[in-house]
Amino acid sequence: MKSKPANKIQDLQFFGEFGGVNPSISDSSTYTFLSANSMSETFEGNTEGCYLYSRNSSPSNLYLEDACAAMEGTEAANVFASGMGAITATILQLCKSGDHVISSRTVYGGTYAFLKNFTPQLGIDTSFVDITSLDIIKKSIKSNTKIIYCEVSSNPLLEIADLHEISKIAKKNDIKLIVDNTFTPLSISPSNFGADVVIHSLTKFINGTSDTIAGVVCSSKEFIHSLRDVNDGAFMLFGATMDSLRAASVLKNMRTLHIRIKKHSENAMFLANSFENDGIKTVYPGLKSHPSHKIFTKMINKEYGYGGMVTIDVGTLEMANKLMERLQEKNIGYLAVSLGFYKTLFCAPGSSTSSEISESEQDQMGLSEGLIRFSVGLDHDIDRTYNSIRECLKEFKLL
Ligand code: PLP
Repeated sequence: MKSKPANKIQDLQFFGEFGGVNPSISDSSTYTFLSANSMSETFEGNTEGCYLYSRNSSPSNLYLEDACAAMEGTEAANVFASGMGAITATILQLCKSGDHVISSRTVYGGTYAFLKNFTPQLGIDTSFVDITSLDIIKKSIKSNTKIIYCEVSSNPLLEIADLHEISKIAKKNDIKLIVDNTFTPLSISPSNFGADVVIHSLTKFINGTSDTIAGVVCSSKEFIHSLRDVNDGAFMLFGATMDSLRAASVLKNMRTLHIRIKKHSENAMFLANSFENDGIKTVYPGLKSHPSHKIFTKMINKEYGYGGMVTIDVGTLEMANKLMERLQEKNIGYLAVSLGFYKTLFCAPGSSTSSEISESEQDQMGLSEGLIRFSVGLDHDIDRTYNSIRECLKEFKLL
């Protein structure tokens, strides 16, 4: 039987230096060598299990990396100081001047800004496409296309990438498929569908306590080694290294990820159904009305559900702002960016997390100003929560 992602994390066995049930935290930036020869070998990348300097690798980070690789079913992983650190290093490791990128047009605003505004200065051009159209992806391929970049469930429109089909296109054309799985950890395992690199902003569901910024790249040993190379590795040279204390803390939170994701998904499904039944324009991959419901259902590790992200559209930014302020006043959640917290978080992405995307492009992709993105929390009584939300909707005559 195929091992499930949460089992793979739990089957790892780490002990602390003195038999502690948690691994010891490495508190050193540098490491001694018993011989000068092994120091130079380590610099050449030849010595497994030797540490040279914590920007390159540290024992605490390796424990978290093992857990992330186990979760995503990849050979290896490398943690970063942020999701953006992971994304930018991956793209620049794979693309050089003169190369071309195909990216979903609905990706996190920071990723979009990097590909739209920053990488062209380095001679790397990007075609932003509707990732749900396989035809458009095929037509956008050029002789210099190096990567296809997408999010499994896109931020904020929750458009679904058909990873199986996209990876077939990528493989046929010798292009790497890079997938950001931040919205759907455990629910989707992109490497099962042929993704070459899987990225997470650990800041979100995986850490789950909104107390840190962190990221990870999960991939083959070869790619992870290339990122760490002292001569031309984007991780090693850009230096977006995670601190060991943080790595230890994220690892501890990750052990309850399977329980949290099930609850986030269960609550999100309940809210999405309730909004839709009340006639509010709702997008959630778990709803039959979602255009990619069937594709998502085919990819999903069913026990974890369709994830914790839901959007509704209340027409105007003014209405979205009024509603969000009232939801916060009633302690239904917080008016805040980010996701994966125990409390529901909501924002209007058009004027916040996706504000890097110009208004005309937002219009083209269907990102309306009245869209509210919910990261649904771990509420014990989601029925009670929806009743409070309904009171707010009625107050603003949305029901
Ligand atoms: N990817 C997605 C889908 C995100 O939503 C975000 C942040 O919101 C990032 C990447 C960037 O991660 P970080 O904020 O950890 O750098």
